[in-house]
Amino acid sequence: MLRALFIYLSKLRWMRSLILKLSFTRKASRRFVAGETAPEAVEVVRYLNQQNILATLDHLGEDVHTEADARSACDDYVRILDLIQQGGVPSHVSLKLTQFGLDVSGDVCRELVASVIEKAAQVGTFVRIDMEGAPHTERTLAVYRDMRKIYSNVGIVLQAYLYRTEDDVKRLVSEGMAHVRLCKGAYKEPASIAFPRKADVDANMVKLMQLMLGDEARAHGAYLAMATHDVRMIEATKKFVAEHNIPKDAFEFQMLYGIRRDLQQQLAAEGYKLRVYVPYGNEWYPYFMRRLAERPANIWFVLSNFFRP
Ligand SMILES: Cc1cc2nc3c(=O)[nH]c(=O)nc-3n(C[C@H](O)[C@H](O)[C@H](O)COP(=O)(O)OP(=O)(O)OC[C@H]3O[C@@H](n4cnc5c(N)ncnc54)[C@H](O)[C@@H]3O)c2cc1C
Repeated sequence: MLRALFIYLSKLRWMRSLILKLSFTRKASRRFVAGETAPEAVEVVRYLNQQNILATLDHLGEDVHTEADARSACDDYVRILDLIQQGGVPSHVSLKLTQFGLDVSGDVCRELVASVIEKAAQVGTFVRIDMEGAPHTERTLAVYRDMRKIYSNVGIVLQAYLYRTEDDVKRLVSEGMAHVRLCKGAYKEPASIAFPRKADVDANMVKLMQLMLGDEARAHGAYLAMATHDVRMIEATKKFVAEHNIPKDAFEFQMLYGIRRDLQQQLAAEGYKLRVYVPYGNEWYPYFMRRLAERPANIWFVLSNFFRP
């Protein structure tokens, strides 16, 4: 119920303007957002790297409605890739296709995403295409396939809550394109297309993890980034790789900046590859609301900031 409410609120423009103006919500957002500027975010990456934690930088933004805004988002990504190179901090980047104009023009979106992937290749790094709500799933996969046919430094995200994801995994594996970040899924989807029960989402995530790490998938070049803070998902992955003698560098775990930092440090100390998703920028509102939707306790954390000096 609360989850649905916060996901609904994440789309309201008047709410966005209000929340962005309130000083206590801005302060609270810093729990999940690395800063409003690229240099601040790069310093966070440097700090993570010092703890043997890898990173992927995300310049927050989604749902742009003009080509000019899409081009401006693209310029921002080129700038952050320059900073990654100049600062000597190895970091991937993650982006959303609606930020690159997917709803404005598929051609413009492809042109801009290709230029970011090319720039990333020059810098020696990697671009992850985030997955958004179900109206964008098919088009996001189509753009990904077009990019992956040309570039090897690009990957996609799949969501375990969608019924279709098992087929998507199998198809990408057979096409040799399964460079996949697997997550549970952060949007509100109807029961006609997504598992409504958390237990079923969890079971599907374990099944998909095993598919992605199986001998056949790895023989086809599949690479899994298991993106979760759920200890049971993490333990299931550790157990599967131990039982199948899969080396620790043949896959990675991923978590979000500011969430379960204890677990992040533990995995890094145990020698697993761990990458943290580091969002930054002033368009933090929808991202922030999705984090509140995931965990009602975060709402009390936000309210407590109201009373702090
Ligand atoms: C690196 C990364 C990239 C992602 N990219 C995408 C994407 O492209 N598309 C997409 O739809 N979703 C994405 N997600 C979000 C994902 O789909 C889930 O919504 C989110 O990760 C919560 O699911 P969980 O696996 O952590 O499990 P859950 O069962 O939701 O949570 C397990 C435990 O993790 C902790 N936890 C989880 N969320 C929070 C939170 N917000 N605050 C505090 N503690 C929390 C709690 O201890 C909780 O008990 C991404 C997640 C990660 C980690």
